[in-house]
Amino acid sequence: MKTIAILGSTGSIGRQTLNVVESLPGRFRVCALAAGGNIALLAEQAIRHRPDMVSVGTDAGAHELRERLAASPSLKNVASPEIVVGVDGIMAVATHPQAEILVSAVVGVVGLPATYAAIEHGKSIALANKEVLVAAGELVMAAVKRHNVALLPVDSEHNAIHQCLRGGDRGEVRRLILTASGGPFRKTPASKLKHVTPEQALAHPNWRMGRRISIDSATLMNKGFEVIEARWLFDIPLEKVDVVIHPQSTIHSMVEFVDGSILAQLGPTDMRMPIQYALTYPERVASNEHALDWARLRKLEFARVPVRKFSCFRLAREALEAGGSAPCALNAADEVAVAAFLEGKIPFLSIARVVEAVLEQMPATAWDNIEDVLAADLEARRLASDEVNNMVV
Ligand code: NDP
Repeated sequence: MKTIAILGSTGSIGRQTLNVVESLPGRFRVCALAAGGNIALLAEQAIRHRPDMVSVGTDAGAHELRERLAASPSLKNVASPEIVVGVDGIMAVATHPQAEILVSAVVGVVGLPATYAAIEHGKSIALANKEVLVAAGELVMAAVKRHNVALLPVDSEHNAIHQCLRGGDRGEVRRLILTASGGPFRKTPASKLKHVTPEQALAHPNWRMGRRISIDSATLMNKGFEVIEARWLFDIPLEKVDVVIHPQSTIHSMVEFVDGSILAQLGPTDMRMPIQYALTYPERVASNEHALDWARLRKLEFARVPVRKFSCFRLAREALEAGGSAPCALNAADEVAVAAFLEGKIPFLSIARVVEAVLEQMPATAWDNIEDVLAADLEARRLASDEVNNMVV
């Protein structure tokens, strides 16, 4: 039985992780959960999975959680979990002494220090929290190597590449090909993007995900982030990472080898599959949940990424090329800009404008610790908030 801790248990990935745990009885024990403000769901999860420790965002949340757990008849004669709070709480969950695997699935750079600490504590990492590699990929992967831990990607594209790479030696790889659905605005003319609403941008054609990643998919920033993640995860130069639009999202990604052979990983659009792969690796475990319906699969289409239409995709590649603090600033500025868009403060196309303005102002710095990354993150957020405020009339 493997013991797991989950950061972001109430989110889209967190909930599906618990779903996988329940679908494979006897394989996993959940020792610790961390979430932010969804106390009702967190309490339900704690009652069902009986972790030793639960982390919430605030003291008020801790109080509410304590009351909900105390009122639960099924916890009457058992010890209640230890309740911890805030960033210290996330850290305690990530480094919980019983945890063998950390599922890192909070959204945002808030998950970075805890994920990094879990690596230093020798935990295996099932990584969904993409901001960890976007902001600090080089440092994180160096720590993975130093501590000889496994870091398994949960993101379906990188999970697919991880699977395809099992088919050949690293020296035989010509390039990685990430697939992109193109998001909800694949067919929307560039001139119409000015007026799109948060509701339209949140309506992803193939995947149900959290709000930030849904907007990032609509701007294609998410695909830019994935290029950065792939660069660090698979230790491969930027010029060997390609992206192709594939609206059906059936091929989750591909690896082309030096002889021209291409291995692709296909499957239904169901995140439980990559989550299960990451949790059970190197084993493949039977599942009744996932089956591709070939009869309904009429066509697989492909197209080039319209880079001029989606500036965020270009900005991500440029940030990776610039190196240093640029990818971290890219992520921080995007997070602020996406939040402002969702609040109706700025229009859709201004997300890229905010990010570009912040990248132009950020000094190029090199770093060798997580504190420097967090300082750059804060500075980029400050600059991005200023940009947003200047845009709000
Ligand atoms: P959600 O928005 O659905 O969930 C985010 C989770 O993080 C929630 O549990 C939330 O808690 C928690 N959280 C947010 N802020 C804090 C905080 N300050 N302290 C503690 N907990 C916090 O996001 P997703 O599950 O969609 O995504 C999670 C990560 O995985 C992201 O980095 C995303 O890019 C990545 N990812 C997601 C995919 C998907 O299919 N959803 C696919 C690939 C990658 P609460 O709700 O209780 O406030």
